[in-house]
Amino acid sequence: MKVKLAIEALKHLPGTQFICCSSLYSSKPMGAYEQPDYVNAVAMINTLLEPLDLLDQTQRIELEFGRERKEARWDSRILDLDILLFGNLQIKSERLIVPHYGMKVRGFVLCPLAEIAPGLQLPDGSIITNLVAVIDKDELTVLV
Ligand code: ATP
Ligand code: MG
Ligand code: MG
Repeated sequence: MKVKLAIEALKHLPGTQFICCSSLYSSKPMGAYEQPDYVNAVAMINTLLEPLDLLDQTQRIELEFGRERKEARWDSRILDLDILLFGNLQIKSERLIVPHYGMKVRGFVLCPLAEIAPGLQLPDGSIITNLVAVIDKDELTVLV
């Protein structure tokens, strides 16, 4: 499975210590038309990389996995590596918005995130367990 290889790739990021990764969660696509299900996971790392250098690295991995940058947002794609959080930083630049703008309303992000960081508080003060409690988990399943 591609996601497992992508997680392996994160273990080799420069200046970075891989901490852990959640279970894999399958979810239905957000796009309007027929696409295969997605597989989602959240990984935690410690890194000396600057946020934009980490984005360069994750985009390099996406390209190595055969992703093409011309794809439209939410198109079916081989791999999507998003930076959800970077410590307690809030970043708003042209290339990078952290916390990820959609993370608080996406069950396929919140559930794996809560699994590996159950005590997490987001930079805006919201508590992960409270967010997970109210999010729609209908179409989310943990893969064994
Ligand atoms: P979504 O952002 O809704 O999850 P997506 O992940 O499919 O959609 P992409 O095509 O992967 O969107 O990325 C579009 C652009 O988003 C990237 O070129 C990148 O510069 C920018 N971006 C902004 N914030 C982030 C972030 N936190 N993590 C990854 N990319 C980001
Ligand atoms: Mg995304
Ligand atoms: Mg992305």
